[in-house]
Amino acid sequence: MRRMVDEPYFTHSAYSALTTGIQVKCSKCHGPGIVTADKDYAYFRCYNCGHQETRERTIYRYDVHNQCRNCGRYYRMDIKDEAKQHFPVLHVACPHCGTMMPGKVHKTAEAYAYIAEIKDGKEPYFGLELWFLTSFQGKPVWALNREHLAYLIGYLSADLREKPFSIPRKTQADHLPTFMKTSKNRKRIVKLLKKMQER
Ligand SMILES: [Zn+2]
Ligand SMILES: [Zn+2]
Repeated sequence: MRRMVDEPYFTHSAYSALTTGIQVKCSKCHGPGIVTADKDYAYFRCYNCGHQETRERTIYRYDVHNQCRNCGRYYRMDIKDEAKQHFPVLHVACPHCGTMMPGKVHKTAEAYAYIAEIKDGKEPYFGLELWFLTSFQGKPVWALNREHLAYLIGYLSADLREKPFSIPRKTQADHLPTFMKTSKNRKRIVKLLKKMQER
């Protein structure tokens, strides 16, 4: 009998980019690449063609703050238009009296980008398709990387699955859609997953 102890809830998730990395398809050559991330940036690197991308993870607020020349009041205007955010100086109208005047554009780090989950077989950092992606009866079956793929195979082929905690808590398997856990589908899903391991 094959027993397996499940893993904690966030072991394999979009957060894996911060630890093991997420294996994806390169947007240029469709070869294998990897998405990793640290606190400030997300990185893509293609193993095949060498294409690289870096994206900032921090969300910035852009604004012009001024004291109005005409009415003397202070104001702050947020700049939402991305095309205008990178100008050093912008002409804005005082919200109190409407007087137009130039103001310096200030950039302030507001927050770290929220990490969304995997959606439609794509990772949330660059929107690249996962390398380990297939479908079962029209539904996506995917793994983030080899470690996750091995976990899925182990979990779905075990006869006995145990939770890692004595108190009820969410575990990694709670991420899995029901169709993958249904006993009548499990064997066929494991077969699909094992086929993906050959990639
Ligand atoms: Zn490439
Ligand atoms: Zn004014």
